[in-house]
Amino acid sequence: MAKRIGLLGGTFDPVHIGHLRSALEVADALALDELRMMPNARPPHRDTPQVSPQQRLEMVRLAVDGIAPLVMDDRELKRDKPSYTVDTLELMRAELAADDQLFLLLGWDAFCGLPSWHRWEELLQHCHILVLQRPDADSEPPDALRNLLAARSVSDPSALTGPNGNIAFVWQTPLAVSATQIRQLLASGKSVRFLVPDAVLAYIDAHGLYRASN
Ligand code: ATP
Repeated sequence: MAKRIGLLGGTFDPVHIGHLRSALEVADALALDELRMMPNARPPHRDTPQVSPQQRLEMVRLAVDGIAPLVMDDRELKRDKPSYTVDTLELMRAELAADDQLFLLLGWDAFCGLPSWHRWEELLQHCHILVLQRPDADSEPPDALRNLLAARSVSDPSALTGPNGNIAFVWQTPLAVSATQIRQLLASGKSVRFLVPDAVLAYIDAHGLYRASN
């Protein structure tokens, strides 16, 4: 039987309940066999000082431990330098059967930025795109995406058929949490309990991550 694999990439700096709840809701709604959370490599100057890519990865690993079908995927970080999503999808495709379904999850903000991505028109040759509706997303899509949406979007995400080629919107429990907010709370000495899983909180505390250095 064809497998159904989801991919959620992000900086996960740190991973939080907004990411995790979205991932789980999509995995449930679409009966995914696996939802891979894949931390991105970033240029060194854009990394948060004192938080290494390996620590971002470790926090994702802790967050998804035992929470099937969520899994951590270290493929992009193993490559050490930023990789293009289209290349990652190509590599993943090469490991799957031809009829396996691949779903790329994108927040609304990321989706709107698609036209600036490397070889973005090719993405749908490898996957379906699921656009996660974020609470702060009320903007209109850019013009460059209007035709694509008209041609490729389907209204019911669970009706997506075939291995690739369509776009669907997935409505979710709104959780207006961001990693930026979490970094700011920690830098000002405040608690982030219940915004990140307990295991992630314990890791942040044990390693003194995101605290203002003084
Ligand atoms: P930052 O605040 O550092 O920009 P972030 O919280 O937006 O980070 P990312 O790692 O950039 O997190 O996000 C990875 C993916 O998860 C993106 O597609 C983003 O749109 C989505 N996402 C982030 N936060 C939420 C949330 N609260 N609800 C739903 N999706 C989210």
